[in-house]
Amino acid sequence: GDTFFNQNGRVYTIARSAIRPIAVIMSTSRGSYYHNFCDQASLTLPLGIICSILLVLVWSRTRRQYHSPRNMLQRALSCRQLRLHYQPIIDIKNNRCVGAEALLRWPGFDGPVMNPAEFIPLAENEGMIAQVTDYVVDELFYEMGEFLASHPQLYVAINLSASDFHSARLISQISEKAHSYAVCIGQIKIEVTERGFIDVAKTTPVIQAFREAGYEIAIDDFGTGYSSLSYLQKLDVDTLKIDKSFVDTLEYRPLTPHIIEMAKALNLATVAEGVETESQRDWLRQHGVQYAQGWLYSKALPKEQFILWAENNLHVH
Ligand code: C2E
Ligand code: MG
Ligand code: MG
Repeated sequence: GDTFFNQNGRVYTIARSAIRPIAVIMSTSRGSYYHNFCDQASLTLPLGIICSILLVLVWSRTRRQYHSPRNMLQRALSCRQLRLHYQPIIDIKNNRCVGAEALLRWPGFDGPVMNPAEFIPLAENEGMIAQVTDYVVDELFYEMGEFLASHPQLYVAINLSASDFHSARLISQISEKAHSYAVCIGQIKIEVTERGFIDVAKTTPVIQAFREAGYEIAIDDFGTGYSSLSYLQKLDVDTLKIDKSFVDTLEYRPLTPHIIEMAKALNLATVAEGVETESQRDWLRQHGVQYAQGWLYSKALPKEQFILWAENNLHVH
């Protein structure tokens, strides 16, 4: 083995040969020893620091990419982690369940469920909405196809985003699914949201094509967008869903009765969204709104619970 020691201001190293009985002693002044040491350290230390920083940067970038909302949504879709819940839609006059709206949920791993109001805009901005919509259509028929086929009086409404109306691709896709599950086209409603800006000229032909293929069209969140009236004039729609903000403040929103009157004049069915109290329900009933959806009746439920709920509310109470 080697021996290393200091003596009288000098540094010594003794190296013994393993096979022959000889040893070499090297000695240098402590000054030049440390000078040499510093020379080497001044080269290797910065190099080491730079390499470490680079490693940390690459690691944190990879980690950030892995945890980016886009990639998390992509993985949630591939692992089929997103779930559909179904919120009953009720005939206000007799409390009968007439159908449901399919609402997407993103259950957290251990945290809370992520709201579609957060991840749908993300999917829209990241160009992933077509993928999300395909997923919803698949999941909907997989979960509800049989139930719908055996309950032809019920319908399910699905929410489509503006860009879903940029091509007619979905029409044949949904129709094929409906056919293979023996579900009537009339049992699938298409909700077109009024929120934000919709390119009316671009979406109108596809919405019209859905209509011609036999789908019912509902304008969602009516009253919150920019295109309300032009839409209604141009489109052959069936239903207006009055946005929750109008239902929340029935007493202070002088517009709500006019929306209802207009819907009646145009021969459109009305669904009040987000009905939470009995007094809201009574007001809506008195003003001739036909259908309601809200926590007063039920929140959106997982498939099994919804089916139980619907079977208990198929008949007039
Ligand atoms: P929306 O289509 O207007 O759906 C109604 C929203 O109101 C749902 O929120 C529902 O849970 C909530 N709601 C219903 N009743 C009540 C109530 O009594 N009180 C309150 N406070 N809220 C009530 P959710 O599920 O968070 O969905 C938010 C929006 O995300 C939906 O609004 C819809 O525009 C969009 N969305 C949901 N699922 C999908 C989907 O599969 N595809 C697309 N493109 N959009 C979706
Ligand atoms: Mg909706
Ligand atoms: Mg709505």
